[in-house]
Amino acid sequence: MKRSIVLFRQDLRLSDNPALACASEGQVLPVYIKDTQSLGDWPIGHQSEQWLNAALDSLNHDLDGHLYIETGDTLAILNKLCKSHNITHIYWNRCYEPSRIQYDKLLKQSLQDRGIVVESFNGSLLWEPWTILNQQGESYKVFTPFYRKGCLMSTPPREVVEIATTLQFIKVTSTEQVHASVANWDVSESGALKQFQDFIAHGLNGYKTLRDFPSKPNTSRLSPYLHWGMISPHTMWHKAKELTGLIPDKDIDHFLSELGWREFSYYQLYHHPTLPDENWQKKFDHFKWENNPQHLKAWQEGNTGIPIVDAAMRELSQTGYMHNRMRMVTASFLIKNLLIDWREGEKWFWDHLYDADLASNSASWQWVAGCGFDAAPYFRIFNPILQGKKFDPEGLYVIQYVPELKNLPLKYLFTPWEAPLEVLAEAGITLGIEYPKPIVDLSESRNEALARFKALGDGK
Ligand code: FAD
Repeated sequence: MKRSIVLFRQDLRLSDNPALACASEGQVLPVYIKDTQSLGDWPIGHQSEQWLNAALDSLNHDLDGHLYIETGDTLAILNKLCKSHNITHIYWNRCYEPSRIQYDKLLKQSLQDRGIVVESFNGSLLWEPWTILNQQGESYKVFTPFYRKGCLMSTPPREVVEIATTLQFIKVTSTEQVHASVANWDVSESGALKQFQDFIAHGLNGYKTLRDFPSKPNTSRLSPYLHWGMISPHTMWHKAKELTGLIPDKDIDHFLSELGWREFSYYQLYHHPTLPDENWQKKFDHFKWENNPQHLKAWQEGNTGIPIVDAAMRELSQTGYMHNRMRMVTASFLIKNLLIDWREGEKWFWDHLYDADLASNSASWQWVAGCGFDAAPYFRIFNPILQGKKFDPEGLYVIQYVPELKNLPLKYLFTPWEAPLEVLAEAGITLGIEYPKPIVDLSESRNEALARFKALGDGK
């Protein structure tokens, strides 16, 4: 009988798991290896590690305690397990981080050289990056043609894969145990599914317009689950499509296109592996960034004196998540008002997000900085006051995360420095004591950014 290892990585689920489906024809040893070798320059961030441990705990539970977990070198551990348990086949779902791709190639070759059958599958992307090319056979650089002409005109995403209901396990005692949870999140495959169902029931209708409001329930908050593969984009894609007729098309299409942005991020990373570290548009290499540790620290800690920015940065540190519009606002503020290199923000997000994802994080930071592929033009500078007033019109989000401003009239909530002293006194605030004064003048710093960006010229 076939005796297989399924090597779990960013596919921590049983449903729609092509590697597991293939292995389930025989006896299975499910394995997760905490491998520091294959992660390259981007070792796991501290919030992600918490999420991972909770996800492993839950996966182990779903596998009736049969998940084998070990820390070390993947190849050495797999070799050891193959030898001691007569393993004939190894299956995994593909990862797309450049260091992982490189590592997996070597891993596959070494295992095959030892006579093991190795097969990899697509568990995490609707369209793998090498399958979508333009008519000249080149990679797309702009999202809309990539998605509309490339993806939507290509073969539709594969159907969801069925898994045998009873798996026959090879029993091996794990050297490591994980017992972990994450406050306020149900980090489990069933939790992901439930969250998706709740979103369908209460958030998808109206998604196109309401997804920009951070205090509304109109985003799915599934990004950490998607990153760790606790729900597959295929499950989400097909389920959302089935709702046609029940939910307005514009909401379904917009939701699918956001999954498309996730695909585009992976696409960019695959075709340009230096995306996390280098400006894609080389002219940005000459940009004069400010090195101001106090400003960086104020941004990181949510003490910039700009309430919407501070609310968002505190949301990140308190919850391990930040709403998408707020990610754009805080990133724009760091890059275009504080003039701090986008890579500082990228690193901070990497360490503090539960959904930290090399592809989406680096592509998005480059997008906001204006140095990426289909990037926002450099002169698009978010005005955090207007963003706050427009997308948090009742101030609920600001008050939730910056409660020291809760008694300030809405009129001044996004600009406390404009409030008369008696209004501040009435609200119990002395600027510089209970809440900081703005660390930069928004319009001066904006003009400075524009001048510096303009000086780069029009070249690539
Ligand atoms: P929903 O609106 O419910 O969207 C559904 C799914 O589509 C998301 O879960 C996500 O997988 C995908 N998606 C949505 N918007 C985007 C987008 N703009 N780019 C790529 N995929 C998207 N997303 C991450 O998953 N990991 C990151 O590390 C990350 N870093 C970011 C950094 C910055 C500066 C910015 C501006 C965006 C970043 N994003 C990142 C993208 C986006 O903000 C999150 O995916 C989104 O906020 C997750 O919330 P949600 O699940 O409720 O999204």
